[in-house]
Amino acid sequence: METEKLEHWNDASPPLIISGPCSAESEKQVLETAQALAKLHGISVFRAGVWKPRTRPGDFEGQGLKALSWLKKATRETGLKTAVETGLPEHVKACLDHGIDIIWIGARTAVSPFAIQDIAKELKGQDLPVMVKNPVNADLDLWIGAMERINEAGIKKIIAVHRGFYTYKPGRFRNDPLWEMPIELRRRIPGLPIVCDPSHICGKKECIREIAQKALNLGFDGLMIESHIRPGDACTDAAQQLSPAELSSLLQMLVVRDNDKPDDCLQELEKLRSLIDKTDEDLLRILSERHEIVKQVARIKREYNQPAFQPERWRKVLEDRVRSGIRLGLDTAMVKAIMEQIHRDSVKNQSDFLENDAG
Ligand code: PEP
Ligand code: MN
Repeated sequence: METEKLEHWNDASPPLIISGPCSAESEKQVLETAQALAKLHGISVFRAGVWKPRTRPGDFEGQGLKALSWLKKATRETGLKTAVETGLPEHVKACLDHGIDIIWIGARTAVSPFAIQDIAKELKGQDLPVMVKNPVNADLDLWIGAMERINEAGIKKIIAVHRGFYTYKPGRFRNDPLWEMPIELRRRIPGLPIVCDPSHICGKKECIREIAQKALNLGFDGLMIESHIRPGDACTDAAQQLSPAELSSLLQMLVVRDNDKPDDCLQELEKLRSLIDKTDEDLLRILSERHEIVKQVARIKREYNQPAFQPERWRKVLEDRVRSGIRLGLDTAMVKAIMEQIHRDSVKNQSDFLENDAG
């Protein structure tokens, strides 16, 4: 996928901060929110949902077409760029006709290749930036596929938006962040800008700062945070929208990481990284030694006609390794995950060995 780096087309200094209400509700609400946000330092894009994809019919579905001119008025009055969600080709056409600066594709639309293809067709020949939220389900290929379809229509200014993933388990978050997803996305498409949407991950105000900071710590390129002039009155997502004052103090508290690395920093990193490379090599050598011992264990089990998996021994191994891990200051979940993977591999090797014997 051939995409343009954010700094090539966006003049605002990083990180890119996008904010505004979940929904455009009235001209007054749009203008008052935009004016308050324009006074804060660092916000360059004003977002608002104009067509809202609702779970149940009859809920507030946005103000539609007429809200686009409120957004353009907001741009004229504040200089902020505008971003709108589009779920259908006619939404895209309306945004293009009104000169909306940026469009985004929501999480419910990103799951549907047909819907994305229709939107991509409408975007052919255009040059505006398109943000693609992750699909609600945790499927990285589906997310990448959606961006590829938009990219194949000729759009180079693509931004991935990480808004978390649907989860059955009620937990701290409305949508599970599954950080491994955007991390893997960055590994697979290094130049692609990624923005985090902590509002939809959290679903409530309280943890937005923590998630936003984590995204910056991971090197994300920006944040999309919902804000409303009077969050308590919001027609949608009232619990997660910040007032301009709340947003202002959050932005002041965030620590922005530097993406340029000075020479001294590079040198120090280089030294430590070569130590890490050596340690990883040692880890792999020790794993291979362990593997040789497992092979001997398999031979003994075959000789004495023993099963490959011995639950009592495994229970003791796991308990013992978790204890050692705690003593060594390692994260218990990590130690468990590593030991479980090693044990799975060991049991597989032994049962393959016994199976060959049986065959
Ligand atoms: C939104 O940004 O208001 C929205 C509907 O988000 P998502 O598509 O991530 O649910
Ligand atoms: Mn919302």
